[in-house]
Amino acid sequence: MNVAPPLEQTARFRHFSCPECQGALEVLVDGATGAVIYVCRIGHQFTARELLAGKEIYLERLLWATLTTVDELIVLIRDLDERRQVAVRADRAHARREAALRLRSALEQVIAENEPVALDGEESPRDAIARRGGV
Ligand SMILES: [Zn+2]
Repeated sequence: MNVAPPLEQTARFRHFSCPECQGALEVLVDGATGAVIYVCRIGHQFTARELLAGKEIYLERLLWATLTTVDELIVLIRDLDERRQVAVRADRAHARREAALRLRSALEQVIAENEPVALDGEESPRDAIARRGGV
């Protein structure tokens, strides 16, 4: 059984959240190597590279989730307007739908231009996402 070298708690919180559970990350320093390790309250641990990759993956997921939500909003507003099942003022529904369409277009551009940082000698976060089966 391997025994991990002791970690020194630096009592520094870098205002980063865990890419797995969104809990606050504490910064620890490996006493043997000096490597920085980020640990959340649940116990998820990340090297700096893993945290960077995790943040890139999380951002990609959020962007796609936001785009999906905007798509659903556009369709829902249209459906409610056509069926008149919910009292939505037509002028406001139309304005909101038009704004959501502009937002969708902007999000598509943001997603297309979002290029995760590549790390030397390692799989890029985007490749990692693809390998894991998408976002
Ligand atoms: Zn966590």
